Amino acid sequence: MQKKALERWSIEKSADLYNIRNWGGGYFDISEDGNVVITPFPGQNANGDRVAVSMLEVIEGVKERGLDMPVLLRIENLLDAQLAHLHGCFNQAKEVLGYKGDYRGVFPIKVNQQHQVISEMTAFGSRFHHGLEAGSKAELIAALAMLQDPEALLITNGYKDEEFIDLGLYARKMGYNCFFVLEMPSELDLILERSKALDVRPLLGVRVKLSTQAGGHWEESGGDRSIFGLNTTQLIQVTDRLRAVDMLDCLRLVHYHLGSQVPNIRDIRSAALEASRFYAGLVEEGAAMGYLDVGGGLAVDYDGSHTNYTNSRNYGVEEFCIDVMEAVMTTMDEKGLPHPTIITEAGRAVVAHYSVLLFNVLDTCRFTASRPPEKIPEDAHHLIRNLMEVREVFSIRNVQECFNDAIYYRDEIRQLFKHGRVTLRQRSMAEDIFWNILTRIQETKKLLKQPPKALDGLDYALSDIYYCNFSVFQSLPDAWAIDHLFPIMPVHRLHEEPTRRAVLADITCDCDGKIDKFIDSHGMRRTLQLHKLKDECEYYLGVFLVGAYQETLGDLHNLLGDTNVVTIRIKENGDYDFARELEGDSVADVLSYVEYDPKALMEQFRDIAENAVRTGSISAQDRRRILKAYRAGLAGYTYFER
Ligand SMILES: *Cc1c(COP(=O)(O)O)cnc(C)c1O
Repeated sequence: MQKKALERWSIEKSADLYNIRNWGGGYFDISEDGNVVITPFPGQNANGDRVAVSMLEVIEGVKERGLDMPVLLRIENLLDAQLAHLHGCFNQAKEVLGYKGDYRGVFPIKVNQQHQVISEMTAFGSRFHHGLEAGSKAELIAALAMLQDPEALLITNGYKDEEFIDLGLYARKMGYNCFFVLEMPSELDLILERSKALDVRPLLGVRVKLSTQAGGHWEESGGDRSIFGLNTTQLIQVTDRLRAVDMLDCLRLVHYHLGSQVPNIRDIRSAALEASRFYAGLVEEGAAMGYLDVGGGLAVDYDGSHTNYTNSRNYGVEEFCIDVMEAVMTTMDEKGLPHPTIITEAGRAVVAHYSVLLFNVLDTCRFTASRPPEKIPEDAHHLIRNLMEVREVFSIRNVQECFNDAIYYRDEIRQLFKHGRVTLRQRSMAEDIFWNILTRIQETKKLLKQPPKALDGLDYALSDIYYCNFSVFQSLPDAWAIDHLFPIMPVHRLHEEPTRRAVLADITCDCDGKIDKFIDSHGMRRTLQLHKLKDECEYYLGVFLVGAYQETLGDLHNLLGDTNVVTIRIKENGDYDFARELEGDSVADVLSYVEYDPKALMEQFRDIAENAVRTGSISAQDRRRILKAYRAGLAGYTYFER
């Protein structure tokens, strides 16, 4: 009894298991009663009476408002807090280092284009003159209407046609700080031509190809082979061209982008140093300059390991700011140049924390080895007898040997089955014995100090499948496409021990529609520890840090559409408002995306039903009920509804 008490599960154990305090950025924690709570004001943690909002309570509120799972929950405060944090860190770096220039941030719209996000970004961001970065015509058009702060910057990257350039030039005329960043030399001619035609002097920038490359998924964004940016020859050509038309005063900015999610601070520093040299070189060429834009790349610690793994980063925002500023300052001081305004285009780091995907578990397929037979029939194949023997001699001293033997006999028996020398019933018996042995090995493995390497995959092989109400393709495209790891955990019952090991399957019925790679402070693990489902009780999981890139990259695989979106704003006293609700796609919506006309479908189906009445296979009343169900289906949510 006493031993049991000592071993009792605790919320602390859950916090360690899911590592929430390391990836949560101070915004998420676990309450005494085992719920994930949102702690939107991290500075408060010390004084004991911090504001903490239970996620389960939010889910209940969402359901009371008639919205079903899955739901993308946005917590507005976290966007504000991350933005304030970035600016706070740069201000502090400025003070510490005595940097004389300014800092300006812009948010790259492509990271999360949703109107709500950009609207909050520009409204809250105006106190820091936080601007926007647009990489396409559509993004520019959105940005022009959304950005109301005359001091904020509007940086345009990407390939620009005449329409794009004209809009940017008009914007300049109206007083926007709209920069054209040249991605390739050929863009310059058109910009010069249109500037002359519209009589506007543009603000120009150049994107440079650095030799610095960053590790991680996006390492090819930098370096000689990157598809964007000017090499040094092209850079000189651009300055010569501008000099010839007496427009070197329009060249104001140098930009680079190392790629997203740069995990190693060494690369950040080295790129800032190299870019500073480009900046100084352009000043020497006679360009007016004044702005150094370090692009994006500020990483998010998705696994909480604080390392240079791809899903992490070995630095904090504070260190990022200090290192970038110091690199720029050192170069400028050495050359006796004024300190430029430093611009960042941090996207992921600002919005990742802001959204959490919540869904319920619909069902589980528990791995349970059936009982092997008490007695092997007399006529059983000798390999089955051998397998049974392995089971009998198994002990803690021969784990590895029994594991190897079990696999050997199982494979042999499968082989014989293929050749028709073992019956289906015999094979089934063999499989039962085999899994029974493996289950025992797995249990014994826990007692071993150094379990054999060969047993590493055992937890995975014996894991449960939890069927979850969401689509990987729609809501977590990076988890599918580039094996990106997001922190995933139950949002309640955290005072109970999670006794099952599971992989997650979504409801797309695609064999890729699963998650079987999870964060781990030493890399990656193949199963997630979860609780047993309880009858009559929903079990909710949250996928955290999904505010960047996931929404518009998602697709309509199996015609599962956009999820419901709910935005909350938490007040200083801990109350919260459901600030906005956005219903997800209905079945009719997604069908119309793939060019069905829901009305026409209804009519076609009605004709078929009418025909069925005529031939007598259904009654007229049946027809009414069937058409009602069809109509309700069209109007309904694309996900599983209870
Ligand atoms: C994608 C992109 C960014 C944003 O990168 P993050 O790593 O999300 O901060 C910034 N600048 C440019 C040019 C980009 O293409």
